[in-house]
Amino acid sequence: MPGGAHVRRPDSWLATAADALASIFLSAECRVCEEVLTRASRLPICEECLASFEPLTRQICDVCGVPLPAFAGASVQPRFCPPCQNRTYAFDRVRSFALYDRALVKAILLLKFERIDPLGSWFAARLAELIERDPERLAADVIVSVPLHRIREKERGYNQAELLAKPLAKRLKLPCQPVLLVRSRPRPDKRMLSLDERWESVRGAFATRPGTQVDNRRVLLVDDVLTTGATLDACARALREAGAKAVVGLTVARAIRHPDAGLR
Ligand SMILES: [Zn+2]
Ligand SMILES: [Zn+2]
Repeated sequence: MPGGAHVRRPDSWLATAADALASIFLSAECRVCEEVLTRASRLPICEECLASFEPLTRQICDVCGVPLPAFAGASVQPRFCPPCQNRTYAFDRVRSFALYDRALVKAILLLKFERIDPLGSWFAARLAELIERDPERLAADVIVSVPLHRIREKERGYNQAELLAKPLAKRLKLPCQPVLLVRSRPRPDKRMLSLDERWESVRGAFATRPGTQVDNRRVLLVDDVLTTGATLDACARALREAGAKAVVGLTVARAIRHPDAGLR
């Protein structure tokens, strides 16, 4: 394309130059796919990987947010998944940004073990979008992150759920009060647990701090991944017992255990 270069607008030329310089001098790689990052950003994940996350935008269970299978020809879609028809969770509802799969699994690991704050902020923006889409039913007065046991938090140096809750609170202009909840019992090794054992292991593992004021307040509970819902349920139970009016859960990722839950 002869002469093509000189018709580019100077600002885009500068941006391209900045990206090129960044890629030469920082030679940063996408922490998910290991391709060289071609733009200057504090987020160490490339656009392709970010775009590969699968948002849970289609018909979902009104309570737990799991994607519902589509029934061909049915005029009325069910609003609840089978487990939610038989079980009463302590939370009112849970919503998740995207499916816990491939690139998102790696991104969550980065958040969990490498404390990448810009990634927490990026995810928080996606969680804020979920609330914008359903502001009334996801309304809250206070934001709380799912706590780690104090020994675990000391080992890791931070709580990854707080890396999400804090920037989310800033966006929503709500108070973030991670101190409201404590994990009084450490988590056993997850890989050792069956589904039932997982529920059992978190029962009563969370408590509100003495003197906590959640009376009549709507709490937004934030975590990185929802697997069985047992953790959010146990947290919500403690908050309810302390007088919370409503508890809504928000997670970045949603693990789907059964492919026949309508996912693939
Ligand atoms: Zn990538
Ligand atoms: Zn459900």
